[in-house]
Amino acid sequence: MRKVVVVGAGFSGLSAALRLSCSARELDITVFDKKGSLDFLPLLPDVIGRGISADCISSPVSALLRGKKIKFIAEEVVSLDRGLRTLFTPSSSHPYDYLIISSGTQVNFFGNRKIRDSAFTLSGAGSVKEILSALASGNFRNFIVCGGGYTGIEAATCLRAYFLKRHINPKIIIVERSAGILGPLPGWIKEHTLRNLRRMGIDVLTGSTVEDVNGLKVVLSGGLVFDSAMLIWVPGVKGADFVENLETKKNPQGRVVVDKFLRFAPDSFCAGDASCFDCSGTPLRMSMQFSIYQGARAADNLVRSIKGLPLKGFRPVDLGYIIPMANNNSCGPVLGLKLKGLLPTLLHFAMCLYRLPRLKNKFHLASGLLRSIFR
Ligand SMILES: Cc1cc2nc3c(=O)[nH]c(=O)nc-3n(C[C@H](O)[C@H](O)[C@H](O)COP(=O)(O)OP(=O)(O)OC[C@H]3O[C@@H](n4cnc5c(N)ncnc54)[C@H](O)[C@@H]3O)c2cc1C
Repeated sequence: MRKVVVVGAGFSGLSAALRLSCSARELDITVFDKKGSLDFLPLLPDVIGRGISADCISSPVSALLRGKKIKFIAEEVVSLDRGLRTLFTPSSSHPYDYLIISSGTQVNFFGNRKIRDSAFTLSGAGSVKEILSALASGNFRNFIVCGGGYTGIEAATCLRAYFLKRHINPKIIIVERSAGILGPLPGWIKEHTLRNLRRMGIDVLTGSTVEDVNGLKVVLSGGLVFDSAMLIWVPGVKGADFVENLETKKNPQGRVVVDKFLRFAPDSFCAGDASCFDCSGTPLRMSMQFSIYQGARAADNLVRSIKGLPLKGFRPVDLGYIIPMANNNSCGPVLGLKLKGLLPTLLHFAMCLYRLPRLKNKFHLASGLLRSIFR
């Protein structure tokens, strides 16, 4: 029986494992994840801004794999020996015939230990619970969100929504190293977002970065100092640690460069955010939808290689994307249309409701959203 190991039980890893178990019953499939749960990352900011329960966005992996011929091991993969075809966790080694890496990305602290030890992140259900309890402590008066990408913007607007409900109006600043927010996105999205942030009383400081953190003091480049400050760190991500040591081609973020079949070696595939898939000369956007489809396609191609069939290229179908903002004035291109306001907000949450695992979670989410959108 061929042994297949899948590293990561996020969107791409679960999609791959479930597809493998349906299409090739004779495989011995093992999924590894350092956590025991799937955290629905697109809803993390809404736990802060819309009062969605952190528990409803987190589902035990064992429950999601129940009834399937898939073994789950809740341990971190620390290294791989591709020559020996063996994967290592801190306590055991696991030989394999085929490998799918779907370990996503992790927060990049750019080697700054002080920031790593003091900053808050949006990396999982646990991290938003930490933010919520820190907010409840009342120790913070200034909120610095470092990173002006999708996550930073959504986080800043959710913080504002959190305080509006409590009739407090603290300073919230997005600090972005480059000259503008939202990197390479079209001008109309940046303009709409900037206007909306201004309307929500959120400052945007471009060409600036966090220089130092000392207790509750945050120092920005140029010497601007904020006391009683909470630092939320979202300026970028990088590949998992074990991927860093893999000898294969990676992009500057440490994501594994894959071919059109999502392969980086004849017996090894990589899917989701962990992979760097070339899409007309630029890496494919990191997104839940692409990750799910890539996981399934990597699984199909793995089965096809076992059967000696020609592999199928991955062709992303891009329906669009949305920058969700907590005052429901979101924006983004969907099916080629430039959407602004409530409609893209509703579409974003329709996608979340559709993709969120388990009926009881969907029900909690739907009732939380109804309260927050149509209050
Ligand atoms: C705040 C936020 C908001 C977002 N909003 C949206 C959105 O609105 N729409 C959208 O499409 N996308 C959104 N995304 C992006 C989307 O969540 C990702 O593209 C998607 O989660 C990638 O799926 P994945 O399976 O590749 O990785 P992940 O979902 O990150 O899963 C990777 C898994 O691998 C595990 N893992 C990592 N390293 C190891 C290891 N060494 N050993 C074992 N297990 C390991 C992790 O524990 C994790 O469970 C958002 C992301 C964030 C953080």
